[in-house]
Amino acid sequence: MTRPVFRFAPSPNGALHLGHALSAILNADMAQRTGGRFLLRIEDIDITRCTPELEAAIYEDLRWLGLQWEEPVRRQSEHFADYDDVLKKLIRAELVYPAFMSRSDIRAYISEAGDHGKSWPRDPDGVPHYPPVDRRLSGRERRRRIDAGVPFAWRLDVDAAIARVGQSLGWTEFADETLAGSSTIAARPQDWGDIIIARKEVPTSYHLAVVLDDAIQAVTHVVRGRDLYHATAVQRLLQELLGLPEPSYYHHRLMLGDDGRKLSKSSRDTGLHELRENGATGEDVRRLVGLG
Ligand code: GLU
Repeated sequence: MTRPVFRFAPSPNGALHLGHALSAILNADMAQRTGGRFLLRIEDIDITRCTPELEAAIYEDLRWLGLQWEEPVRRQSEHFADYDDVLKKLIRAELVYPAFMSRSDIRAYISEAGDHGKSWPRDPDGVPHYPPVDRRLSGRERRRRIDAGVPFAWRLDVDAAIARVGQSLGWTEFADETLAGSSTIAARPQDWGDIIIARKEVPTSYHLAVVLDDAIQAVTHVVRGRDLYHATAVQRLLQELLGLPEPSYYHHRLMLGDDGRKLSKSSRDTGLHELRENGATGEDVRRLVGLG
């Protein structure tokens, strides 16, 4: 049997907190328990918000937790050419289209729609679906706008993509970190509408980069927070469209703050750096995240 491959994939656009610690430790522990490999991937496609300092802090925090990962670390910003190749494939297959509407165009369109947008479909994160306007533009009008320098993003035509895949999609979700029981979850990528696949200046988006990297790195088990549970539907669709292998998933509990909300990158008292400064040890962090 091939060795299981796990990965922790933080974005260096903020400091790591206890939620990241839970994810990183779980992945490393599960790799160890199964005789698998533990990879670290730096998801730094957002070149405006990710910084080398925040990336260096990630390594420092993870070393302090006592984690060891394989080298070299894959940094997404070094692989834009890989994403661009896949994007071109989707463009040739006519599964993505240039989307020209700005945020305010979208807002205006939706508020004018019927009942002032009250029943406009929203994605699982609560964001309104992209209006079906640009999807219907003629090839000539698209060309004209692109040539005129109108900014755009590439969006997936989700209905066309589902039709192309032509089968009901699902994924394997483990019940807990022991990987004992699993169930098949029906994927509903249509719930996301026409998601962004790439931006004008960056030839990828979170979803595209994640599925491609998980495949390139031969990740077999995606272990990440519950906040990304619904994103799996879109990622499964992209895997099918691109002929990529299908990993199994385990979406773990989230660490919540005193206010009952998900921790944020600016929550000071739960930042790993702050905990270290205040004299905590890696073992203390294990206890704090319930893995002591
Ligand atoms: N980079 C993502 C984040 O920091 C995680 C991606 C994933 O695990 O699929 O939220």
